[in-house]
Amino acid sequence: MKNRTSGCKYIVVTGGVLSGLGKGIAAASIGNLLSGRLKVVSVKCDGYLNTDPGTMNPIEHGEVFVLDDGGEVDMDFGHYERFMGITTKFHWNLTMGKVFKNILEKERRGDYLGKTVQFIPHVTDSIKHWFFDIAKAEEADVMLIEVGGTVGDLENQFYLEAIRQLKRDVGDENIIYIHLTYVPIPEGVNEQKSKPTQMSVRMLNEKGIDPDVVIGRCPEMLTPPIKEKIGSYCNIPASHVISGPDVKTVYEIPLIYEKEGLPAILHSALGIYSPPDLRQWEGWVRNIKKNLVNPTRTVTIALCGKYTALEDSYASVVEALVHSGAHLDVRVNLKWVDTSKVATVEDAATLLDGSDGVIVPGGFGKRGIEGKMRVIQHAREKGLPYLGICYGMQLAVVEFARNVCGLQGANTTEVREEGVVVDHPVIDILPGQKNVLQKGGTMRLGGHDVQIKPGSRAYSIYGDQAVIRERFRHRYEVNPDYIERLEAKGLVFSGKHPEENIMQVMELPGHKYFMGSQFHPELTSSLRNPSPLFYNLVKAALE
Ligand code: GLN
Repeated sequence: MKNRTSGCKYIVVTGGVLSGLGKGIAAASIGNLLSGRLKVVSVKCDGYLNTDPGTMNPIEHGEVFVLDDGGEVDMDFGHYERFMGITTKFHWNLTMGKVFKNILEKERRGDYLGKTVQFIPHVTDSIKHWFFDIAKAEEADVMLIEVGGTVGDLENQFYLEAIRQLKRDVGDENIIYIHLTYVPIPEGVNEQKSKPTQMSVRMLNEKGIDPDVVIGRCPEMLTPPIKEKIGSYCNIPASHVISGPDVKTVYEIPLIYEKEGLPAILHSALGIYSPPDLRQWEGWVRNIKKNLVNPTRTVTIALCGKYTALEDSYASVVEALVHSGAHLDVRVNLKWVDTSKVATVEDAATLLDGSDGVIVPGGFGKRGIEGKMRVIQHAREKGLPYLGICYGMQLAVVEFARNVCGLQGANTTEVREEGVVVDHPVIDILPGQKNVLQKGGTMRLGGHDVQIKPGSRAYSIYGDQAVIRERFRHRYEVNPDYIERLEAKGLVFSGKHPEENIMQVMELPGHKYFMGSQFHPELTSSLRNPSPLFYNLVKAALE
C-alpha cells in the first residue's frame, strides 16, 4: 500500500500496563503542543463493537460527547477539542463495529468478488485506508492516532497490526510511536519501578512496534536513573523518556511535556516545526492551581443528577466549571446531589445549604426528576443562580408550569413510557422524532444555530451575538402549544431555532440568574473559551 497522503505525519499513541492512565489527555496534550502552526487531526481507535458509545451506559463508559456533525463519541474527543481548539468529526472515531460494518457492506456490494475476505489484509487495510482518507480529506499536517485500551487487549490487535504496517507505508521519517506506561512507586519500597514498563514495551516489541518515546505515568517526575534504565531497555535515549506525573489539573500536562522536551523530539523526528506558545495557558493553569491550594475566592455549585455515582458521566460539565473558575480566578467547589433522595422542597433546601449555584444537567427517564424539580423550585424561589442543561431546562419549564402557571399534572411526555399520567404535556416529543424506532444515533444530535433574542440576558452573556451555534442531544422539546401560557407568566424563551419553532434557551427575568438551554453548552467550553452560560453562572454565584 502506498502512502496516498504525502505530507501528513503520523503520531501513534498506545498505552500499556493499565487502562485509565490518561492516554486521551496525553494524546490531546501532544496535539496541543503541535497545533500552533500545523493542522493536527485526532483519530481514536476503539476495540468495541458498538458503532458509537451513544447507546452505552454512561456509568460504565463515561460521558457521551456530541460532535458538531452529530456524531456521538467518547470523552477523549472532548479532550482533543478542548486541548487542541479543533472541531473533530465522527468519522475520526473508528470502532471495530464501524470497521466490520464497512467491510461487510463492501463484501455484499461485491467489492471483494472472487476473494476470501480475511482479517489480514482486509481488516488492517481497511483501517489504514480510513487513516489515509481522513489525512487527505482534511489536508492534515499531522495525524494523531490514539489506540484505545492497552497493548495486551485482544480486541485492539488489528489496530496494532495496522499501525505496525503503517511505518512501511508512510516511511520512517513520517511516523513516530509513543507509548504511555505506568511507573509505580510501591509503598514501602519508595522507589520508582521500571519493570511494568519494560514488560509492556516488550509486549509492544512482540507486535513489531518499537516505541520512539515512552511517557511514564508516575506519582512524581521520573528521576534521571529511571529514565536511563527505561531508555536502555527500550533502545531509546533517556531524553525520550518523558515524565507524566500525577497533576492537580490535567491542563498542566502540555506544560510538563514541553518542559520535558517533547516538542523538540517530535520536531526533529518528523521534520516539522511548530513551537508551542503556552503563555496564556500557563496563566490559567496557575490560577487553577493556586485556587486549589489557597483560593482567593470560593463558590460552591451543586450538581444535581442521577448519574452522580460516576463523575465521568458529567465530565464536560465539570471541565466547563474549571474553565470558568480559571478565568474568574475563583475556586469552584462541586457538591454532588443525588436527586433521587430529594422528597420535599425542604429536603432540597437542606441539601443545597451552602451552595451558591445549582446545575441540573442532561438526563433521561423518570427516576429522580421530581427531586430535580424540587431543587429547581428552591433555586427559582430563593434567587439561587440556576443553569438547567437540556433535561434541566425542560424540567425547569415543567416546574414553572406547575407552580407558577398552575398547570397541575404538567410534565414531559417522556415519562408516559414509564406509566406516569401527563395532563399537561408542556414538554413533548419533537415532531421529527415521533416515528423513530431505532435507538442508536437517532436523537436530534449535533450542532444547530440558535437565534438569540436581542435585549435578553442570553444576548448579553453571548456578547451581543444574534446567532450562536451549540450542540444538542435530545428527543423532546418545549411544546409550542404552551409557550404563550408560559410567557404570560414571565418565562422568556430567549433562544430559538432560526427556522423551526424549537425553544433553545429559556430565562427568567428578574431572577439573579435563572437560565436553561436545550443544548449542552459544556460541549463547546474550553480553557481558551469558557462557555458563557457557565462563566456567568459562576459569576452570579460569586455575587
Ligand atoms: N431526555 C430529554 C430529551 O430527550 C433530555 C435529554 C438530555 O438531557 N440530553 O429531550
